[in-house]
Amino acid sequence: MSNSRIVEYQCPYCGTKFETEIYDSVTADEDEDLRDRCVSGDLFRTSCPHCKQDFMIQFPLVYIDRRNRFVLWLSETEPGEELVRQIAGPLAPAGYTLRRTPTLKEFTEKIQIFEDGADDRAVELAKYDSLIEFIDNKKGTAEDVTSIDYQKTENGVMKINVRTGDKGMSFLIPVSMLEEEMEQNPERYRVDDASFPVINAEWMIQLFESLEAEGMLS
Ligand SMILES: [Zn+2]
Repeated sequence: MSNSRIVEYQCPYCGTKFETEIYDSVTADEDEDLRDRCVSGDLFRTSCPHCKQDFMIQFPLVYIDRRNRFVLWLSETEPGEELVRQIAGPLAPAGYTLRRTPTLKEFTEKIQIFEDGADDRAVELAKYDSLIEFIDNKKGTAEDVTSIDYQKTENGVMKINVRTGDKGMSFLIPVSMLEEEMEQNPERYRVDDASFPVINAEWMIQLFESLEAEGMLS
């Protein structure tokens, strides 16, 4: 069940205090409209009744999709004991994928990844591989890259977009290739769903840095 409440919020532009609705939880498979507003970001958009400025408010949110069997905890901080016990306790052993997403951008991307039935660890691997290919092919340097985005998974192929400013370059990576790479070292890619792990670029970089430190990469 989705839950919302009215909170008092102070406009960061003019300082006016006003009331706005924020959500504590969204059950996506029950509420298609709320799911759409999460993906578009509209759920987090508000406007000041006084100065009319539009802005985003990010609040801690539990997003549950029972159809695609995943739970997202949108928050810059670790989940509290209560959330771990109530949500992770029953759902992690039931095979749900649980993730924490510190930013809205990661949050909306995860929804898309899991709705596509993709593995987000494979997505991060694909992004990493795309970046390496981008640099190897002399398309630019790592400093030129402004973002690396997941686009979609279709017919067993993952599409990643490497952006530099206003230009974008697509990379198509077979999912089977990513799965093979992960299956070679299952230990390396193992994550504990019950702890709401953060799986993003930093996770991937740390993984490779620890391999370099161990001298496993030549
Ligand atoms: Zn205002």
